[in-house]
Amino acid sequence: MIVFKTNAEIELIRKSALMVSATLTEVAKFLKPGITTKSIDQLAETFIKDNKGIPSFKGYHGFPGSLCISINNVVVHGIPGTTLLQDGDIVSIDCGVYMNGFHGDSAYTFAIGNVQEATLRLLRITKESVLKGTAQAKENNRVGDISYAIEQYCARENGYGVVRELVGHGVGKKLHEDPQVPNHGKRGDGKKLKEGIVLAIEPMITLGTRDVYTLKDDWTVVTKDGKPAAHYEHTTAVRKNGGELLSSFAPIEAAEMANPELNSSYYQKATATV
Ligand code: MG
Ligand code: MG
Repeated sequence: MIVFKTNAEIELIRKSALMVSATLTEVAKFLKPGITTKSIDQLAETFIKDNKGIPSFKGYHGFPGSLCISINNVVVHGIPGTTLLQDGDIVSIDCGVYMNGFHGDSAYTFAIGNVQEATLRLLRITKESVLKGTAQAKENNRVGDISYAIEQYCARENGYGVVRELVGHGVGKKLHEDPQVPNHGKRGDGKKLKEGIVLAIEPMITLGTRDVYTLKDDWTVVTKDGKPAAHYEHTTAVRKNGGELLSSFAPIEAAEMANPELNSSYYQKATATV
C-alpha cells in the first residue's frame, strides 16, 4: 500500500535526506587509500548522531553497520569491517538517516585514485541514470516509466548490466515502503504516480553482466563475473513535471573535487557534454 505524504511531511523527509547528503559529504572528505571501511562507518555514525539523527540501517534486519560500504565487485550491502581501501578501488556508500519520524536514503559511488577509464565511465552513466529516472517521476506517469528510462540509458544505450534482484522503493516513515521501483521495465507498467509519493530511485549498474549473488554473510551482494558495479541513489518527491530531488549530490561533489585522493574526472567530463 502506497503511503501518501503531505507537503509538510515531504519537508521532513527533505531534512532527513539532506542529512544523508551531509553525511556522505563528510565521508567524501575522509576517503583515501589505507583506511578501513569500519572507520568510514564510525565517522558517519558519529556525524549522524551528533546531528540528532539515527542511522536508518543500523540494526535493520540485523545489519551491523550505519553505512553499506560496497567495494568494486560488491554491488550493495557491503558490511563495514577491516577491509582497507586501495588506490584504484571504487566504493559505493549507501546511507539512511531517520529524523523527525521520517527516513532519507541516498547513495554515491566514489573513485579512489587511479581508477580505470572504463570504470569511471560506468560511474558517470550510473549517476546520470538516476536523473533519467527522476525526470519520469511525474504525476500520472507510472513506475515503469522510471524503470524503462534507467534501463534504456544504462543497458540499451550504454551496454551495461542492470541488476534486477534489488530495486528502489517508496520511503517515508518506513525505510522501505511501496511501491517497488525496479531499474528495468516497460513504459506504462506498474502503479500510477501521484504527488505525495516519495521514492528512492537507485540504479545498481554493472560493467559486465547483470547477474549477482549474495555471499554467505547473507548481506553482501556481488557480481557473478567479478566486474565492478556502481550505485547512486536519490530520495525524490513525485511532482507535476518530474521528480524533485530531496537529497543533493552538490555538496558531495564539492568535497569529492576538493579531496585529492578521489578521482572526480568522470563527472567533470560529464558536465562538459551533458
Ligand atoms: Mg540507500
Ligand atoms: Mg534505498
